[in-house]
Amino acid sequence: MTDSAARPVRTRFAPSPTGSLHIGGLRTALFNWLFARHHGGQFILRIEDTDQNRFDPTALTTLMEALRWAGLQWDEGPEINGPFAPYVQSERLAGYQQQAQWLVDEGKAYKCFCSSERLKQVNEAKTAKGEPSGYDRFCRHLTPVEVAEREAQGQKYVIRFKMPLEGQTVVQDAIRGETVFENNTQQDMVLLKSDGFPTYHLAHVLDDHAMQISHVMRAVEWFPSFPLHWQIWEAFGWEKPIFAHLPVLLNPNGKGKMSKRNPPKDKFGNIIPVMVHDYMRGGYLPEAMDNFLTNIGWNFGDEREFFSMAEAIERFDLTRINPANSAFPVEKLEWLNGEHIRALPMDELATRLRDVFETAGLTVRDEVLRQVAPLLQIRLKRLTDAVAIAGFFFRDEFTPPPPEHLIQKKMDAAQTQQALERSIAALAALTDFSHASQQAVLEPLTTELSLSNGQLFGVLRVAVTGQQVSTPLFETMEVLGQAESVARLELAQESLRDSIEKSVTNS
Ligand code: GLU
Repeated sequence: MTDSAARPVRTRFAPSPTGSLHIGGLRTALFNWLFARHHGGQFILRIEDTDQNRFDPTALTTLMEALRWAGLQWDEGPEINGPFAPYVQSERLAGYQQQAQWLVDEGKAYKCFCSSERLKQVNEAKTAKGEPSGYDRFCRHLTPVEVAEREAQGQKYVIRFKMPLEGQTVVQDAIRGETVFENNTQQDMVLLKSDGFPTYHLAHVLDDHAMQISHVMRAVEWFPSFPLHWQIWEAFGWEKPIFAHLPVLLNPNGKGKMSKRNPPKDKFGNIIPVMVHDYMRGGYLPEAMDNFLTNIGWNFGDEREFFSMAEAIERFDLTRINPANSAFPVEKLEWLNGEHIRALPMDELATRLRDVFETAGLTVRDEVLRQVAPLLQIRLKRLTDAVAIAGFFFRDEFTPPPPEHLIQKKMDAAQTQQALERSIAALAALTDFSHASQQAVLEPLTTELSLSNGQLFGVLRVAVTGQQVSTPLFETMEVLGQAESVARLELAQESLRDSIEKSVTNS
């Protein structure tokens, strides 16, 4: 294995932005970032946009937003630059072209003039004979004179790598060990396209060398091309980085890769998002997402599943990466998200909740938010659930609930009316409106009225919040205050009375 241990650690995340970032891409970025941070090295963001058909310029902004959300700030890359700028491949074309020409001059690559029609025919003929498809290396055998003639005629060409025809390529991977590939199973792949753009195969090797990348951690999907890349490094005679091919994220059922086109579903039939932006909007904490993804394919070492990135940085290494592809344990994410919500300092939680409420169009008052945040902290699974549970605190106007919502199971309108009346009397008489005092007067009422806690508190909850589910009743009334709580109960009482009268008149 090439010994790169003495080199300063420099890792990179090298996406080809084509839309929002895939959750698997975020994990690749995260592992590279953790490794660089563990070693006090540099984490580089490089944009691989040489496939002009697939590139979407808005995707770069989206991508950077997702990385920053996850806390994966790069040390060099777009927007901040660095000693090896530019970090966008479409701005580095001249270098790729020169180096491709150098390979041709050295006899390590060749110009291929074959048209796409010819390539298609070759493939069809091979398939008909039951052979694997691929280029037949016709132009590898052109004489210099033939090449010069074709060039003089202005024929378009690509540059292909001359893969050794015999022998073996023995590759080393820090996670997977040594693998031997037979060279006669390999192809002469295109390095430079006829439009002057490099392919991934050429561009990433040149950039990893130029940017002094010490460790290449990338998705295992690239493993089949690894012998080609290995040979390109050899052709240039450069010291190779250490390679680590990361396992792939599989669907929760362990079958197939997580894909945007065919997204997995949970046990209730709900779609499990595959793109990072859906999690950003869906009330997930970046801390939870990072923790969750770090656990997929790597382990903390002592069975711990809940940890911070600071703790992960201390321990992160390649030896505990499991080469096997791993299923996406979506319920773990829900659990971790709740745990990270509970671990947030209260001020920080309040700041994040403010965003959630404001995004839902609510007007947040600080003194209320400060009191509501602790009530939410113990029960939220996702930040966005706060709107359904506690949005009523921030609605400008309170609309009393319809009478039919007030009446709880196995109760009638008269009992509900009585429950409201007695509660109002008890609560209005309190001189201290703490939740303990409310509890002290309301709990005995259930016995007196022969109601369960669920029934009495259900009536009051709907009356005060307009919702069936909310923050705990007594604490909620404490935040609303005595006057507002009693006023809301009275409104409910009135609307119920009106409806009883109406139904009496109608009958
Ligand atoms: N642009 C490649 C991709 O998005 C990068 C692979 C690598 O990390 O080298 O798959």
